[in-house]
Amino acid sequence: MKTKMSKKDLKLYKQLLTQIKDKLIDQIKHISEDTQKTQRDASGDISGYSFHMADVATDTYDREFSLGLASNDRELLYEIDEALKRIEEDKFGVCEDCEKPITKSRLKAIPYTKLCLKCQSKRESK
Ligand SMILES: [Zn+2]
Repeated sequence: MKTKMSKKDLKLYKQLLTQIKDKLIDQIKHISEDTQKTQRDASGDISGYSFHMADVATDTYDREFSLGLASNDRELLYEIDEALKRIEEDKFGVCEDCEKPITKSRLKAIPYTKLCLKCQSKRESK
């Protein structure tokens, strides 16, 4: 099923998606820079300074937390890319499950969603 959305609306959603995408890429870049820095700092500690177990534990926790965050971001990035593809293919704003149009208010809140509210809650309740 093709979307019945106007060109103007599609452009708006494309803009929204690109904005989120840019922000995400920036975030992912920062996180991986931080992670690299933490790893360097940690190895410096071992060779040069006194070895504090507590500090290392905190570092490890932070690193794992950052990495977890980054993988969520990557997932989101993938969703956004898919949504952008749907815009190009004229399929944007159509629910993947019931093939009915997704409401505008939902698309404005989550422009990369591929399910209408009904189908989303149906999937979540499963
Ligand atoms: Zn649906």
